[in-house]
Parts: sequence; C-alpha cells; structure tokens
Amino acid sequence: MNVSKIMADLERKHPGESEYLQAVREVLESIEEVYNQHPEFEKAKIVERIVEPDRIFTFRVTWVDDQGEVQTNLGYRVQFNSAIGPYKGGIRFHKAVNPSMLKFLGFEQTFKNALTTLPMGGGKGGSDFDPVGKSPAEIMRFCQAFMTELWQNIGVDTDIPAGDVGCGGREIGFLNGMYQKLARKYHTGVLTGKGMTWGGSILRPEATGFGALYFTEHMLKKANKSLRGARIAISGFGNVAWGAATKATELGAKVIALSGPDGVCLNPEGMTPEKLAFMLELRASNKNVVAPFAEKFPDATFIPGKKAWSVPCDIALPCAFQNELNGDDAAELLKNGTWCVAEVSNMGCTPEAIHAFQQAGILFAPGKAVNAGGVATSGLEMTQNCMHLSWAGAEVDEKLHFIMQSIHEACVKYGQQPDGHIDYVKGANIAGFMKVAEAMLEQGII
Ligand code: GLU
Repeated sequence: MNVSKIMADLERKHPGESEYLQAVREVLESIEEVYNQHPEFEKAKIVERIVEPDRIFTFRVTWVDDQGEVQTNLGYRVQFNSAIGPYKGGIRFHKAVNPSMLKFLGFEQTFKNALTTLPMGGGKGGSDFDPVGKSPAEIMRFCQAFMTELWQNIGVDTDIPAGDVGCGGREIGFLNGMYQKLARKYHTGVLTGKGMTWGGSILRPEATGFGALYFTEHMLKKANKSLRGARIAISGFGNVAWGAATKATELGAKVIALSGPDGVCLNPEGMTPEKLAFMLELRASNKNVVAPFAEKFPDATFIPGKKAWSVPCDIALPCAFQNELNGDDAAELLKNGTWCVAEVSNMGCTPEAIHAFQQAGILFAPGKAVNAGGVATSGLEMTQNCMHLSWAGAEVDEKLHFIMQSIHEACVKYGQQPDGHIDYVKGANIAGFMKVAEAMLEQGII
C-alpha cells in the first residue's frame, strides 16, 4: 500500500471532504506497516474497498415549525461497512452535518464497532437540522419527518441507528414511534438508546462516559498511575460529558472544568449529585450554553470565550465534537502539565494535537477505543431485544467493564512499541482494521 497515492486518489474523488480525508489518513498511516506484511490484503484491494462506504442515502426532510413556516433540511444515512454485522451507528443532528462529516464518522464507527468484540458493521446518519433553540414540538415533527424518509432503509437485521450529537433519548423516542407507525413492525431492536419501558437497556445513557473512564482506568493502571485525586477537564455538557463526569467523580477524580460553545466553567470543588443532574437539564434546554452552571452553583466561575483546555488539569477529556482540541490547545495543556488525554468525542483532537501529545510522551488514547463503550452497550441492548428480556444494571455494567478491558488489551497487543511504550492510536487502528479486513477477505470480492 502506498498511503500518499491512495490519499491523492481519494482527494481527487472527494474534494473538500476534510473530516473524511483526515480520518482515513490517520488509519492508513497507522496500519501501513502491518498491511504490507499481508500480500493477500493487497491482492483483494482491501484498503481501496474499506475506505469507501457501501452506500449513502440522501434525502429531503420537510417539516413545519411553530410559526407555521415550512422548513427543509437534508438527511443522510451512510451504510459504511457490513463485513462483521449489520450497519450500526448513531444519528447526528447538527447544523454542520454534511456527507464528509458522516463519512468520517461511519468510517471510524466501522473500526470502533470491530473493537467492541460484538458483531456490528459500521454506519452513521444525521441531518443539518439545528436543534438549538427548537421547541420540543418542533423536535418531534422534525424527527417524524426524518424517519418518514429513512424507515425503509433500516431494520433489526440490516441497519440499527442510535443517538449521537443532538440526538438523545427524547429524539430516539420520536424516531422509534414513527418507525413503528410506518413499518408496522414492532420489534424493539431497530434503534438503540431507547427508553426503559420500550426496550432500552439500563446503563445505555451512561455507557459512553462510563466506558471511557473504565478504559482510562486501565490505561492509567498500565502506566502505574491512578484516577484518584486527578484533576479532570471536560469539554461539553451533554450526555457523554455527563456520563464521564459521573464515573470520574465516583472513581475519586475531581472534575474541575466543564465547557460549552460560550466558554468554560471552572469548578474547583468538583462535582456533586446536584451538579451532575443539572448537566442533564442544561442539555435538555436546547440552548447550548454552559454559563447557567456557574449561575446556579456559587463555587463555579464562568469564563466566556475560553476552552476547557485553558484550565490546568492532569487529565483532559474532550467530550464534545471533532477537532475540538487543536495544536495550540495541546501546547497549552502540555505547558500546564497535563499527563493524559483520552478522546471521548469522535476524532476530538486534530492531527497536530495528537502529534504534540505523542512527541511529549504523555498518555493519549483515540476516540474509537475510548468511547466504544457507547456502541458496545447498544450492542448489548440489541442482544436483550432479540432475546426479549432485560438485564439488570449490574449485569450490563459488568459486560461493559469486560468489553472495555478487552479493547484496552487489543490496543496494547497491537500498539506495543519496541521501546516499551504503547501507541494507543496504532493499537486501536490495527486491531479494528485486522478484524474487518479478515472478515472482508474471507467473504470474497463483493
Ligand atoms: N453515536 C455513538 C458513537 O459514536 C453511539 C452509536 C451507537 O450506539 O450505535 O459510537
């Protein structure tokens, strides 16, 4: 494989798709050496096939807002790779959604899902619908219109969407209700992230954040470090940030910063149950601002326009959006003595930031390993739905623990470097890639 040549071809075919090209380059650079030791991969043109989605559905979503105005958005579902199971991945509602963003997410999802040990292929979907400032009724009408177009392309054995940025439990409810009405199929396993009374799995809302902290715990243990007493800076205040803050606090760390698009809240005393509950209120308000956190809790201080990465911390957990931590942010964190960065958002760090962390020799792990607990628990939800039963929280948590430990072990196996340190980026990419590549190879040229 020649990475430069493959990238040049992709840049010509998909000009301007920067997130997608960034995600592909990162994986190809990590796997190049291993790939070249497998002439059978080269012969079957695995790389040329794995970087392109199987198919993309694009559709118009028209709905009526509270003022009676007709609104039109674009909707998508990217079915990326089904070599190891039906397409599986979230739905993102955000004003910046476009094919490049969903292709990067679908590509990442393919390897992330492979890491979970469960039989799930990769997919992603979404819309450029902006939930900020929308009323609950508008959200419902939009979700119903979105599903009116999508329903024929998903199903319990074909493609199982879930939530992502801007699409949480409430939205999954509206989507599932409309799916059942249109399809007249009532299997509970067509979407995951459902409510507890209609097929949802206990712990799914917490799973991405909990899993991220279990992974971080393993990474720290391997490096003879501990979460106990560590100061953690978190970006975002949505579902993922909430799960991460909850588990970090439970494991003895102190969450000293939370951020939003409007700025950062310094929280030197750490989290309390009231503060954690308020994070959920903030997300549900659809205002996309974190400042009210400091208005509500006097020990917190809001600094407008600043990122979480400006706050001195031991561990940084990006939990919001891709490329939210850039080279300058990395320099600031390193200057302040940060010794661990675990990406919880998908591709949360730019290539420059990752390079800076690796050069500095601090602990760094990529999103596709760290945040895989979310989709893994979706996989457990699918299993329960197919068995028509529901596991207790402790059982799901134990399975999530085991999966995160397996992912950590896979990263160590493939990421161990001759000098003894572990390259988690390489480890996650090679482990995920080998599984999907072998599955593709064994199933012929299709
Ligand atoms: N959107 C989440 C992710 O990025 C979860 C996907 C799922 O549960 O299917 O992995």
